[in-house]
Amino acid sequence: MLGLMMHAPLRVAALLEHAAKWHADTEIVSRLPEGGLFRYTYADAHRRSKQLAKALLRLGVAPGDRVGTLAWNTHRHFELYFGVAGIGAVCHTVNPRLFPEQLVYILNHAEDRVLFFDLTFLPLVERLAPICPKVEKWVLLAGPQHLPANSELPGLCSYEDLLEPERDDYEWPTFDENTACSLCYTSGTTDQPKGVLYSHRSTVLHALAISLPDALGCSALDVVLPVVPMFHVNAWGFPYMAPLNGAKLVLPGPGLDGASLFELFESERVTFSAGVPTIWLGLLQFMRQSGHRFSTLKRTVVGGSACPPALMAAFENELGVTIRHAWGMTETSPLGTASVLKANQLALPPDAQRAELQKQGRVLFGVDMKIVDDAGQALPHDGVAFGDLLVRGPWVVGDYYGDRNPGHLTADGWFRTGDVATIDAAGFMHITDRSKDVIKSGGEWISSIELENLAVAHPAVAEAAVIGVASARWAERPLLIVVRRPGHEVSTEELLDFFEGKVARFSVPDAVEFVDQLPHTATGKLLKTQLRQDFAGYELP
Ligand code: ADP
Repeated sequence: MLGLMMHAPLRVAALLEHAAKWHADTEIVSRLPEGGLFRYTYADAHRRSKQLAKALLRLGVAPGDRVGTLAWNTHRHFELYFGVAGIGAVCHTVNPRLFPEQLVYILNHAEDRVLFFDLTFLPLVERLAPICPKVEKWVLLAGPQHLPANSELPGLCSYEDLLEPERDDYEWPTFDENTACSLCYTSGTTDQPKGVLYSHRSTVLHALAISLPDALGCSALDVVLPVVPMFHVNAWGFPYMAPLNGAKLVLPGPGLDGASLFELFESERVTFSAGVPTIWLGLLQFMRQSGHRFSTLKRTVVGGSACPPALMAAFENELGVTIRHAWGMTETSPLGTASVLKANQLALPPDAQRAELQKQGRVLFGVDMKIVDDAGQALPHDGVAFGDLLVRGPWVVGDYYGDRNPGHLTADGWFRTGDVATIDAAGFMHITDRSKDVIKSGGEWISSIELENLAVAHPAVAEAAVIGVASARWAERPLLIVVRRPGHEVSTEELLDFFEGKVARFSVPDAVEFVDQLPHTATGKLLKTQLRQDFAGYELP
Protein backbone atom coordinates (compact mmCIF):
# COMPACT_ATOMS: atom_id res chain seq x y z
CA MET A 1 0.00 0.00 0.00
CA LEU A 2 1.37 3.45 -0.91
CA GLY A 3 1.29 6.31 1.53
CA LEU A 4 -1.17 9.07 0.85
CA MET A 5 1.11 12.07 1.21
CA MET A 6 1.55 14.71 -1.50
CA HIS A 7 3.88 13.95 -4.34
CA ALA A 8 6.42 16.75 -4.17
CA PRO A 9 9.69 15.95 -5.98
CA LEU A 10 12.78 17.46 -4.34
CA ARG A 11 14.16 20.31 -6.48
CA VAL A 12 17.15 22.58 -6.13
CA ALA A 13 15.20 25.70 -7.19
CA ALA A 14 12.87 25.15 -4.23
CA LEU A 15 15.76 25.95 -1.84
CA LEU A 16 16.14 29.45 -3.25
CA GLU A 17 12.38 29.88 -3.64
CA HIS A 18 12.03 29.11 0.09
CA ALA A 19 14.73 31.63 1.06
CA ALA A 20 13.22 34.30 -1.20
CA LYS A 21 9.79 33.82 0.38
CA TRP A 22 10.70 33.35 4.04
CA HIS A 23 14.08 35.06 4.35
CA ALA A 24 13.48 37.70 1.69
CA ASP A 25 15.62 40.41 3.34
CA THR A 26 18.50 38.16 4.37
CA GLU A 27 21.63 39.31 2.61
CA ILE A 28 24.04 37.80 0.14
CA VAL A 29 27.31 39.70 -0.01
CA SER A 30 29.82 39.05 -2.74
CA ARG A 31 33.33 40.26 -3.46
CA LEU A 32 33.63 40.76 -7.20
CA PRO A 33 36.57 39.70 -9.36
CA GLU A 34 36.19 42.96 -11.31
CA GLY A 35 36.50 44.88 -8.03
CA GLY A 36 34.20 46.03 -5.22
CA LEU A 37 31.69 44.43 -2.87
CA PHE A 38 28.15 43.63 -4.05
CA ARG A 39 25.22 43.28 -1.67
CA TYR A 40 21.66 42.13 -2.25
CA THR A 41 19.04 39.77 -0.77
CA TYR A 42 17.66 36.27 -1.29
CA ALA A 43 14.58 37.85 -2.91
CA ASP A 44 16.84 39.69 -5.40
CA ALA A 45 18.90 36.56 -6.09
CA HIS A 46 15.74 34.58 -6.78
CA ARG A 47 14.47 37.20 -9.23
CA ARG A 48 17.76 37.28 -11.10
CA SER A 49 17.95 33.45 -11.20
CA LYS A 50 14.57 33.50 -12.92
CA GLN A 51 15.82 36.08 -15.42
CA LEU A 52 18.81 33.82 -16.04
CA ALA A 53 16.53 30.80 -16.52
CA LYS A 54 14.61 32.67 -19.20
CA ALA A 55 17.81 33.86 -20.86
CA LEU A 56 19.11 30.27 -21.01
CA LEU A 57 15.87 29.11 -22.60
CA ARG A 58 16.17 31.96 -25.11
CA LEU A 59 19.65 30.67 -26.00
CA GLY A 60 18.15 27.24 -26.65
CA VAL A 61 19.55 25.49 -23.58
CA ALA A 62 17.42 22.37 -23.14
CA PRO A 63 16.89 20.03 -20.16
CA GLY A 64 19.97 17.87 -19.68
CA ASP A 65 22.32 20.29 -21.50
CA ARG A 66 25.52 21.08 -19.67
CA VAL A 67 26.27 24.71 -18.84
CA GLY A 68 29.83 25.29 -17.63
CA THR A 69 31.25 27.79 -15.15
CA LEU A 70 34.82 28.95 -14.54
CA ALA A 71 34.12 31.21 -11.64
CA TRP A 72 34.93 32.26 -8.06
CA ASN A 73 32.44 32.32 -5.21
CA THR A 74 30.22 35.25 -6.22
CA HIS A 75 26.52 36.13 -6.34
CA ARG A 76 26.45 35.53 -10.10
CA HIS A 77 27.85 32.03 -9.66
CA PHE A 78 25.18 31.47 -6.99
CA GLU A 79 22.47 32.55 -9.47
CA LEU A 80 23.88 30.07 -12.01
CA TYR A 81 23.54 27.20 -9.51
CA PHE A 82 19.79 27.80 -9.38
CA GLY A 83 18.99 29.26 -12.81
CA VAL A 84 20.68 26.40 -14.68
CA ALA A 85 19.39 23.56 -12.48
CA GLY A 86 15.98 25.21 -12.24
CA ILE A 87 15.23 24.66 -15.94
CA GLY A 88 16.42 21.04 -15.76
CA ALA A 89 19.86 21.74 -17.27
CA VAL A 90 23.15 20.77 -15.58
CA CYS A 91 25.43 23.29 -13.91
CA HIS A 92 28.96 22.07 -14.54
CA THR A 93 31.40 23.86 -12.26
CA VAL A 94 34.92 23.66 -13.68
CA ASN A 95 37.99 24.11 -11.50
CA PRO A 96 40.11 26.83 -13.16
CA ARG A 97 43.18 25.76 -11.18
CA LEU A 98 43.44 22.47 -13.05
CA PHE A 99 46.19 22.03 -15.61
CA PRO A 100 45.11 23.32 -19.07
CA GLU A 101 45.13 19.82 -20.56
CA GLN A 102 42.80 18.60 -17.79
CA LEU A 103 40.50 21.60 -18.41
CA VAL A 104 40.31 20.83 -22.13
CA TYR A 105 39.64 17.16 -21.37
CA ILE A 106 36.85 18.05 -18.92
CA LEU A 107 35.14 20.71 -21.09
CA ASN A 108 35.14 18.40 -24.11
CA HIS A 109 34.07 15.38 -22.09
CA ALA A 110 31.15 17.25 -20.52
CA GLU A 111 30.27 18.89 -23.87
CA ASP A 112 29.29 22.16 -22.23
CA ARG A 113 27.22 24.28 -24.64
CA VAL A 114 27.51 27.61 -22.85
CA LEU A 115 30.38 28.66 -20.61
CA PHE A 116 30.19 31.41 -18.00
CA PHE A 117 33.53 32.81 -16.79
CA ASP A 118 34.92 35.48 -14.49
CA LEU A 119 37.03 38.34 -15.79
CA THR A 120 40.08 36.79 -14.08
CA PHE A 121 39.85 33.85 -16.47
CA LEU A 122 39.56 35.79 -19.75
CA PRO A 123 43.16 34.96 -20.83
CA LEU A 124 42.54 31.31 -19.93
CA VAL A 125 39.29 30.97 -21.89
CA GLU A 126 40.82 32.69 -24.93
CA ARG A 127 43.37 29.86 -25.00
CA LEU A 128 40.73 27.17 -24.32
CA ALA A 129 38.06 28.29 -26.83
CA PRO A 130 39.79 27.12 -30.05
CA ILE A 131 40.27 23.61 -28.60
CA CYS A 132 36.81 23.37 -27.00
CA PRO A 133 34.61 23.49 -30.12
CA LYS A 134 31.44 22.27 -28.36
CA VAL A 135 31.09 25.55 -26.47
CA GLU A 136 28.77 27.69 -28.60
CA LYS A 137 28.63 30.72 -26.36
CA TRP A 138 30.98 32.32 -23.84
CA VAL A 139 29.50 34.65 -21.23
CA LEU A 140 31.60 37.04 -19.16
CA LEU A 141 30.31 37.21 -15.56
CA ALA A 142 30.34 41.01 -15.37
CA GLY A 143 28.74 44.09 -16.89
CA PRO A 144 29.26 45.00 -20.58
CA GLN A 145 31.85 47.66 -19.69
CA HIS A 146 34.28 44.81 -18.89
CA LEU A 147 34.01 43.10 -22.28
CA PRO A 148 37.32 42.99 -24.15
CA ALA A 149 37.53 45.23 -27.23
CA ASN A 150 38.67 42.48 -29.61
CA SER A 151 37.81 38.92 -28.86
CA GLU A 152 37.39 35.84 -30.98
CA LEU A 153 35.31 34.04 -28.33
CA PRO A 154 32.21 32.61 -30.05
CA GLY A 155 29.01 34.45 -29.12
CA LEU A 156 30.74 36.44 -26.39
CA CYS A 157 28.42 38.64 -24.33
CA SER A 158 28.26 39.94 -20.78
CA TYR A 159 26.15 38.30 -18.08
CA GLU A 160 24.37 41.54 -17.27
CA ASP A 161 23.46 42.05 -20.94
CA LEU A 162 22.21 38.48 -21.09
CA LEU A 163 19.83 39.01 -18.15
CA GLU A 164 18.77 42.56 -18.95
CA PRO A 165 15.95 41.87 -21.49
CA GLU A 166 14.30 39.18 -19.33
CA ARG A 167 11.49 39.65 -16.84
CA ASP A 168 11.48 37.71 -13.58
CA ASP A 169 8.04 36.13 -14.03
CA TYR A 170 9.33 32.59 -14.67
CA GLU A 171 7.68 29.67 -12.86
CA TRP A 172 10.14 26.89 -12.00
CA PRO A 173 9.01 23.65 -13.67
CA THR A 174 8.51 20.44 -11.72
CA PHE A 175 10.24 17.27 -12.88
CA ASP A 176 11.49 13.94 -11.61
CA GLU A 177 13.70 14.52 -8.57
CA ASN A 178 16.28 12.13 -10.01
CA THR A 179 16.96 14.61 -12.84
CA ALA A 180 20.61 15.72 -12.99
CA CYS A 181 21.29 19.22 -11.62
CA SER A 182 25.06 19.61 -11.41
CA LEU A 183 28.28 18.03 -12.57
CA CYS A 184 31.66 18.09 -10.90
CA TYR A 185 34.85 16.32 -11.96
CA THR A 186 37.23 14.83 -9.43
CA SER A 187 40.43 16.83 -9.40
CA GLY A 188 42.47 13.90 -10.59
CA THR A 189 44.80 13.73 -7.58
CA THR A 190 45.40 10.06 -8.25
CA ASP A 191 43.72 9.46 -11.66
CA GLN A 192 42.17 11.11 -14.76
CA PRO A 193 39.30 13.46 -13.77
CA LYS A 194 35.96 11.66 -13.59
CA GLY A 195 32.53 13.29 -13.76
CA VAL A 196 30.16 12.98 -10.81
CA LEU A 197 26.61 13.88 -11.84
CA TYR A 198 24.46 14.96 -8.89
CA SER A 199 20.67 14.86 -8.95
CA HIS A 200 18.10 17.27 -7.50
CA ARG A 201 17.19 14.58 -5.00
CA SER A 202 20.77 13.87 -3.89
CA THR A 203 21.54 17.59 -3.64
CA VAL A 204 18.50 18.49 -1.53
CA LEU A 205 18.92 15.47 0.76
CA HIS A 206 22.61 16.32 1.21
CA ALA A 207 21.75 19.96 1.98
CA LEU A 208 19.27 18.83 4.64
CA ALA A 209 21.71 16.35 6.15
CA ILE A 210 24.66 18.75 6.36
CA SER A 211 22.43 21.30 8.12
CA LEU A 212 22.02 18.98 11.10
CA PRO A 213 23.78 20.02 14.31
CA ASP A 214 26.21 17.09 14.33
CA ALA A 215 27.04 17.52 10.64
CA LEU A 216 28.07 21.05 9.57
CA GLY A 217 25.16 22.58 11.49
CA CYS A 218 23.53 25.73 10.14
CA SER A 219 20.74 28.09 11.21
CA ALA A 220 19.15 31.43 10.34
CA LEU A 221 21.36 32.95 13.07
CA ASP A 222 24.48 32.13 11.07
CA VAL A 223 26.48 34.24 8.68
CA VAL A 224 28.29 31.70 6.52
CA LEU A 225 31.34 32.26 4.36
CA PRO A 226 32.42 29.27 2.30
CA VAL A 227 36.11 29.70 1.48
CA VAL A 228 35.93 26.33 -0.25
CA PRO A 229 35.36 27.24 -3.89
CA MET A 230 32.04 26.77 -5.66
CA PHE A 231 34.06 24.81 -8.26
CA HIS A 232 35.14 22.29 -5.60
CA VAL A 233 32.26 19.86 -4.97
CA ASN A 234 29.69 22.67 -4.97
CA ALA A 235 31.49 24.45 -2.11
CA TRP A 236 30.68 21.41 0.04
CA GLY A 237 26.95 22.22 -0.25
CA PHE A 238 27.09 25.69 1.35
CA PRO A 239 25.26 27.42 -1.55
CA TYR A 240 22.33 25.04 -0.95
CA MET A 241 22.55 24.86 2.83
CA ALA A 242 22.52 28.66 3.33
CA PRO A 243 19.17 29.35 1.56
CA LEU A 244 17.64 26.18 3.06
CA ASN A 245 18.30 27.62 6.52
CA GLY A 246 17.98 31.32 5.70
CA ALA A 247 21.56 32.02 6.75
CA LYS A 248 23.27 35.16 5.45
CA LEU A 249 25.76 34.16 2.75
CA VAL A 250 29.11 35.90 2.22
CA LEU A 251 31.03 35.01 -0.93
CA PRO A 252 34.73 35.94 -0.97
CA GLY A 253 35.34 36.06 -4.74
CA PRO A 254 39.03 35.66 -5.56
CA GLY A 255 40.26 37.17 -2.25
CA LEU A 256 41.44 34.06 -0.42
CA ASP A 257 44.58 35.42 1.28
CA GLY A 258 44.61 35.91 5.06
CA ALA A 259 44.18 39.70 5.02
CA SER A 260 41.24 39.72 2.56
CA LEU A 261 39.46 36.91 4.38
CA PHE A 262 39.94 38.49 7.79
CA GLU A 263 38.57 41.82 6.55
CA LEU A 264 35.42 40.13 5.19
CA PHE A 265 34.96 37.92 8.30
CA GLU A 266 34.96 41.06 10.42
CA SER A 267 33.01 43.50 8.24
CA GLU A 268 30.19 41.01 7.54
CA ARG A 269 30.20 39.47 11.04
CA VAL A 270 30.76 35.92 9.77
CA THR A 271 30.07 33.18 12.33
CA PHE A 272 30.85 30.04 10.38
CA SER A 273 33.20 29.11 7.55
CA ALA A 274 34.73 26.14 5.71
CA GLY A 275 37.84 25.30 3.72
CA VAL A 276 40.86 23.06 3.22
CA PRO A 277 43.75 23.09 5.73
CA THR A 278 46.04 25.18 3.45
CA ILE A 279 43.61 28.12 3.69
CA TRP A 280 43.56 28.02 7.48
CA LEU A 281 47.33 27.65 7.73
CA GLY A 282 47.62 30.85 5.65
CA LEU A 283 45.04 32.66 7.77
CA LEU A 284 46.71 31.52 11.00
CA GLN A 285 50.02 32.93 9.83
CA PHE A 286 48.32 36.25 9.02
CA MET A 287 46.60 36.35 12.44
CA ARG A 288 49.86 35.65 14.24
CA GLN A 289 51.78 38.28 12.32
CA SER A 290 49.09 40.97 12.52
CA GLY A 291 47.96 40.22 16.07
CA HIS A 292 44.31 40.57 14.97
CA ARG A 293 41.54 38.51 16.59
CA PHE A 294 38.07 37.55 15.32
CA SER A 295 35.06 39.20 16.91
CA THR A 296 32.28 36.97 15.51
CA LEU A 297 33.80 33.86 13.92
CA LYS A 298 32.98 30.86 16.14
CA ARG A 299 33.71 27.78 14.08
CA THR A 300 35.00 26.51 10.81
CA VAL A 301 34.81 23.21 9.00
CA VAL A 302 38.08 21.74 7.78
CA GLY A 303 38.22 18.90 5.28
CA GLY A 304 39.56 17.90 1.90
CA SER A 305 42.73 16.61 3.50
CA ALA A 306 43.58 15.67 7.07
CA CYS A 307 43.45 18.61 9.46
CA PRO A 308 46.80 18.75 11.31
CA PRO A 309 46.14 18.56 15.08
CA ALA A 310 48.52 21.52 15.55
CA LEU A 311 46.23 23.66 13.37
CA MET A 312 43.18 22.61 15.35
CA ALA A 313 44.90 23.45 18.64
CA ALA A 314 46.12 26.85 17.39
CA PHE A 315 42.66 27.89 16.21
CA GLU A 316 41.05 26.80 19.45
CA ASN A 317 43.66 28.18 21.88
CA GLU A 318 44.99 31.27 20.11
CA LEU A 319 41.97 32.41 18.09
CA GLY A 320 38.99 31.00 20.02
CA VAL A 321 37.62 29.31 16.88
CA THR A 322 36.50 25.67 16.94
CA ILE A 323 37.57 23.55 14.02
CA ARG A 324 35.17 20.82 13.02
CA HIS A 325 36.97 18.10 11.12
CA ALA A 326 34.94 16.54 8.30
CA TRP A 327 35.56 14.03 5.54
CA GLY A 328 34.14 13.55 2.11
CA MET A 329 34.90 13.38 -1.56
CA THR A 330 33.52 14.58 -4.89
CA GLU A 331 31.85 11.20 -5.13
CA THR A 332 30.00 11.72 -1.81
CA SER A 333 28.54 15.21 -2.55
CA PRO A 334 30.85 15.62 -0.46
CA LEU A 335 29.94 15.17 3.19
CA GLY A 336 30.25 11.67 4.65
CA THR A 337 31.44 12.17 8.22
CA ALA A 338 31.98 14.96 10.74
CA SER A 339 33.76 14.83 14.07
CA VAL A 340 31.48 15.78 16.95
CA LEU A 341 31.51 14.14 20.38
CA LYS A 342 28.61 12.13 21.76
CA ALA A 343 27.13 12.82 25.21
CA ASN A 344 28.81 9.81 26.82
CA GLN A 345 32.22 10.98 25.60
CA LEU A 346 32.07 14.23 27.58
CA ALA A 347 33.28 12.25 30.60
CA LEU A 348 36.49 11.29 28.79
CA PRO A 349 39.73 13.04 29.78
CA PRO A 350 40.49 16.13 27.62
CA ASP A 351 43.29 14.33 25.72
CA ALA A 352 40.98 11.48 24.76
CA GLN A 353 38.31 13.96 23.62
CA ARG A 354 40.86 15.80 21.49
CA ALA A 355 42.10 12.54 19.95
CA GLU A 356 38.54 11.68 18.98
CA LEU A 357 37.87 15.12 17.46
CA GLN A 358 41.01 14.86 15.34
CA LYS A 359 39.56 11.83 13.57
CA GLN A 360 37.40 12.33 10.48
CA GLY A 361 34.34 11.54 12.55
CA ARG A 362 30.95 9.91 12.62
CA VAL A 363 28.87 9.06 9.61
CA LEU A 364 25.78 11.17 8.86
CA PHE A 365 22.39 9.53 8.57
CA GLY A 366 21.99 8.67 4.89
CA VAL A 367 25.55 7.45 4.41
CA ASP A 368 26.67 4.05 5.62
CA MET A 369 30.30 3.00 5.84
CA LYS A 370 32.47 -0.01 6.56
CA ILE A 371 36.11 -1.02 6.42
CA VAL A 372 37.15 -4.25 4.74
CA ASP A 373 40.29 -6.32 4.29
CA ASP A 374 41.81 -7.39 0.96
CA ALA A 375 39.29 -10.24 0.72
CA GLY A 376 36.39 -7.83 1.21
CA GLN A 377 35.64 -9.11 4.74
CA ALA A 378 34.33 -6.46 7.16
CA LEU A 379 36.84 -5.48 9.85
CA PRO A 380 35.98 -4.76 13.50
CA HIS A 381 35.25 -1.28 14.84
CA ASP A 382 38.05 -1.33 17.40
CA GLY A 383 40.01 1.75 16.29
CA VAL A 384 42.98 -0.48 15.47
CA ALA A 385 42.08 -2.67 12.50
CA PHE A 386 42.45 -0.68 9.29
CA GLY A 387 41.20 -1.44 5.83
CA ASP A 388 39.62 -0.05 2.67
CA LEU A 389 36.82 2.38 3.42
CA LEU A 390 33.54 1.64 1.59
CA VAL A 391 30.47 3.88 1.61
CA ARG A 392 26.96 3.90 0.17
CA GLY A 393 23.91 6.10 0.29
CA PRO A 394 21.59 8.39 -1.68
CA TRP A 395 24.26 11.09 -2.22
CA VAL A 396 27.08 8.68 -3.08
CA VAL A 397 28.04 8.22 -6.77
CA GLY A 398 26.60 5.18 -8.56
CA ASP A 399 28.25 5.59 -11.98
CA TYR A 400 30.64 8.16 -13.35
CA TYR A 401 29.37 10.46 -16.11
CA GLY A 402 29.90 8.98 -19.56
CA ASP A 403 32.15 6.26 -18.20
CA ARG A 404 30.26 3.36 -16.76
CA ASN A 405 33.06 1.67 -14.94
CA PRO A 406 31.60 -0.77 -12.44
CA GLY A 407 35.07 -1.29 -10.91
CA HIS A 408 34.37 1.49 -8.43
CA LEU A 409 31.54 -0.42 -6.80
CA THR A 410 31.72 -3.76 -5.02
CA ALA A 411 29.46 -6.56 -6.22
CA ASP A 412 27.02 -5.69 -3.42
CA GLY A 413 26.89 -2.00 -4.29
CA TRP A 414 29.37 -0.21 -2.01
CA PHE A 415 31.59 2.58 -3.36
CA ARG A 416 35.33 2.07 -2.90
CA THR A 417 36.64 5.40 -1.59
CA GLY A 418 40.33 4.64 -2.11
CA ASP A 419 40.93 5.68 1.50
CA VAL A 420 42.32 3.44 4.22
CA ALA A 421 40.72 3.92 7.62
CA THR A 422 39.96 2.62 11.10
CA ILE A 423 36.59 2.90 12.83
CA ASP A 424 36.50 2.94 16.64
CA ALA A 425 33.88 1.57 19.01
CA ALA A 426 32.13 4.97 19.21
CA GLY A 427 31.86 4.99 15.39
CA PHE A 428 34.58 7.57 14.69
CA MET A 429 36.30 6.93 11.37
CA HIS A 430 39.97 7.80 11.07
CA ILE A 431 41.67 8.02 7.68
CA THR A 432 45.17 6.64 7.98
CA ASP A 433 45.98 7.24 4.32
CA ARG A 434 44.88 7.14 0.74
CA SER A 435 45.46 3.61 -0.46
CA LYS A 436 47.94 4.92 -3.04
CA ASP A 437 49.89 6.91 -0.43
CA VAL A 438 50.28 4.25 2.27
CA ILE A 439 53.93 3.33 2.74
CA LYS A 440 54.38 -0.42 2.82
CA SER A 441 57.56 -1.13 4.75
CA GLY A 442 58.37 -4.79 5.29
CA GLY A 443 55.12 -6.24 6.56
CA GLU A 444 54.04 -2.95 8.17
CA TRP A 445 51.83 -0.17 6.82
CA ILE A 446 53.00 3.34 7.65
CA SER A 447 50.53 6.22 7.55
CA SER A 448 51.96 9.20 5.64
CA ILE A 449 49.25 11.43 7.17
CA GLU A 450 50.31 10.57 10.72
CA LEU A 451 53.93 11.50 9.99
CA GLU A 452 52.94 14.73 8.21
CA ASN A 453 50.74 15.76 11.14
CA LEU A 454 53.62 15.21 13.54
CA ALA A 455 56.11 17.07 11.36
CA VAL A 456 53.97 20.23 11.13
CA ALA A 457 53.72 20.27 14.91
CA HIS A 458 57.47 21.14 14.94
CA PRO A 459 57.86 24.92 15.34
CA ALA A 460 60.29 25.21 12.40
CA VAL A 461 58.07 23.38 9.91
CA ALA A 462 55.63 25.26 7.69
CA GLU A 463 54.49 22.29 5.59
CA ALA A 464 55.47 18.65 5.25
CA ALA A 465 54.88 15.69 2.97
CA VAL A 466 55.84 12.06 3.44
CA ILE A 467 56.21 9.63 0.56
CA GLY A 468 57.48 6.08 0.25
CA VAL A 469 60.78 5.64 -1.60
CA ALA A 470 62.16 2.32 -2.79
CA SER A 471 64.28 0.35 -0.33
CA ALA A 472 66.04 -2.89 -1.21
CA ARG A 473 65.48 -4.30 2.25
CA TRP A 474 61.99 -3.03 3.20
CA ALA A 475 60.38 -2.47 -0.23
CA GLU A 476 59.51 1.12 0.80
CA ARG A 477 60.69 3.53 3.47
CA PRO A 478 59.27 6.95 4.42
CA LEU A 479 61.00 10.12 3.18
CA LEU A 480 60.01 13.39 4.87
CA ILE A 481 59.98 16.47 2.64
CA VAL A 482 59.80 19.75 4.51
CA VAL A 483 59.25 23.44 3.86
CA ARG A 484 60.85 25.40 6.70
CA ARG A 485 59.06 28.37 8.25
CA PRO A 486 60.58 31.66 7.18
CA GLY A 487 63.38 32.63 9.59
CA HIS A 488 63.60 29.16 11.20
CA GLU A 489 66.45 26.67 11.01
CA VAL A 490 66.23 22.97 11.76
CA SER A 491 68.48 20.04 10.89
CA THR A 492 67.62 16.55 9.67
CA GLU A 493 68.72 15.06 13.02
CA GLU A 494 66.57 17.44 15.05
CA LEU A 495 63.54 16.64 12.93
CA LEU A 496 64.03 12.89 13.11
CA ASP A 497 64.56 13.09 16.89
CA PHE A 498 61.22 14.89 17.08
CA PHE A 499 59.47 11.65 15.98
CA GLU A 500 61.13 9.49 18.65
CA GLY A 501 58.62 8.19 21.15
CA LYS A 502 55.69 9.63 19.19
CA VAL A 503 55.39 6.83 16.61
CA ALA A 504 56.50 3.23 16.35
CA ARG A 505 60.25 2.94 15.61
CA PHE A 506 59.68 1.50 12.13
CA SER A 507 57.55 4.53 11.20
CA VAL A 508 60.25 7.15 11.81
CA PRO A 509 61.32 8.50 8.37
CA ASP A 510 64.70 7.43 7.04
CA ALA A 511 65.62 10.80 5.60
CA VAL A 512 64.58 14.44 5.34
CA GLU A 513 64.75 16.72 2.30
CA PHE A 514 64.26 20.47 2.57
CA VAL A 515 62.46 22.27 -0.29
CA ASP A 516 61.22 25.83 -0.92
CA GLN A 517 57.70 24.70 -1.70
CA LEU A 518 55.59 21.57 -2.15
CA PRO A 519 53.45 20.85 -5.21
CA HIS A 520 49.68 21.08 -4.68
CA THR A 521 46.67 19.92 -6.66
CA ALA A 522 44.04 22.29 -7.96
CA THR A 523 42.13 21.78 -4.71
CA GLY A 524 45.06 22.57 -2.45
CA LYS A 525 46.11 19.03 -1.58
CA LEU A 526 49.66 17.75 -1.62
CA LEU A 527 50.37 16.42 -5.10
CA LYS A 528 52.09 13.20 -4.13
CA THR A 529 52.14 11.78 -7.65
CA GLN A 530 54.45 14.70 -8.52
CA LEU A 531 56.60 14.19 -5.41
CA ARG A 532 56.96 10.50 -6.18
CA GLN A 533 58.19 11.46 -9.66
CA ASP A 534 60.53 14.14 -8.32
CA PHE A 535 62.06 11.75 -5.82
CA ALA A 536 62.04 8.62 -8.01
CA GLY A 537 65.33 6.78 -7.56
CA TYR A 538 66.03 8.65 -4.29
CA GLU A 539 69.04 7.13 -2.50
CA LEU A 540 68.31 6.56 1.16
CA PRO A 541 71.25 7.09 3.52
P1 ADP B 1 40.37 14.22 -5.38
O1 ADP B 1 39.94 12.80 -5.16
O2 ADP B 1 40.51 14.53 -6.81
O3 ADP B 1 41.53 14.65 -4.53
P2 ADP B 1 38.26 15.07 -3.65
O4 ADP B 1 38.12 16.45 -3.23
O5 ADP B 1 37.06 14.33 -4.03
O6 ADP B 1 39.20 15.14 -4.88
O7 ADP B 1 39.09 14.29 -2.57
C1 ADP B 1 38.57 13.31 -1.74
C2 ADP B 1 39.65 12.74 -0.90
O8 ADP B 1 40.24 13.72 -0.06
C3 ADP B 1 39.20 11.67 0.06
O9 ADP B 1 39.07 10.43 -0.57
C4 ADP B 1 40.32 11.69 1.10
O10 ADP B 1 41.44 10.95 0.67
C5 ADP B 1 40.69 13.12 1.14
N1 ADP B 1 40.05 13.78 2.28
C6 ADP B 1 38.93 14.51 2.29
N2 ADP B 1 38.67 14.96 3.54
C7 ADP B 1 39.64 14.47 4.33
C8 ADP B 1 39.93 14.57 5.73
N3 ADP B 1 39.18 15.27 6.56
N4 ADP B 1 41.02 13.91 6.19
C9 ADP B 1 41.80 13.19 5.36
N5 ADP B 1 41.58 13.09 4.05
C10 ADP B 1 40.52 13.71 3.54
